[in-house]
Amino acid sequence: MSTGQPTRLVVLAGPTAVGKGTVAAEVRAAHPDVWISISATTRAPRPGEVDGVHYWFVSEDRFDEMVASDDLLEWAVVHQRARYGTPRAPVEEALAAGCLALLEIDLQGARQVRTTMPDALFVFLSPPSWEELVRRLVGRGTENDEERARRLETARQELASEAEFDVTVVNREVHAAAEELVALMTYDHESTRAD
Ligand code: 5GP
Repeated sequence: MSTGQPTRLVVLAGPTAVGKGTVAAEVRAAHPDVWISISATTRAPRPGEVDGVHYWFVSEDRFDEMVASDDLLEWAVVHQRARYGTPRAPVEEALAAGCLALLEIDLQGARQVRTTMPDALFVFLSPPSWEELVRRLVGRGTENDEERARRLETARQELASEAEFDVTVVNREVHAAAEELVALMTYDHESTRAD
C-alpha cells in the first residue's frame, strides 16, 4: 500500500509482562496490512520461538557489529541482561512503502526513538492494575525467582513513565487492546493525511 502521504511510525511500550508481545501478535494476525518490526536480541530463544519470526537471535559479536555499523534504530540492555535492538533498514523501507509500522520495544528504546523520530506516535500499554501485572508476570512461569524479581523492579520503574507517552491503551483483554491500538494508528494516520 502506498498512499504517497506522510506515514506513521507507532511505538508500543509498557511494563514487562503487560502483554506487548501478545498484543503485537494479535495485530499481526488480525491486521496483516500493519508492518511489525522484528527485533534483534542476544537472549536465547524460548521454546517455540523461531529465528526471523519472533526475533533475530544473534550472538554478542553480531550485535556489536550491528551497533558499530549503525544498523540499529535504537537498542537497549533489557532486564540488565540481554541486548535488544530494532534493525533500521526494514523500518525505513516499510515507512517509505507507505505502511503503518509498529515497533514493540522497551521504554529505553522508546525514548531513543522519541529523539530520532519525534513524529512517531508513542503508545503506552498499561495493565488494569499492579496486582494483575504481577499475576501475569508470575503466571508466565518462564523465569526463575531472581529473574522475576529483576523484571518486577523494571516493571515498577516502567509504570512510572506513562506520562511520557502520547496515549495509553489498557490491556484488559488482548483482542480489544489490539483493536484499540490499530484504531489509534489508523485514526492518527487519517488525520495526518487530512492535513
Ligand atoms: P522478551 O525477552 O520477554 O521477549 O522481551 C523483553 C523486553 O524486551 C520487552 O519489554 C520488549 O518490549 C523488549 N524489546 C523487544 N525488542 C526490543 C527492541 O528491539 N528494542 C528494545 N529497546 N526493546 C525491545
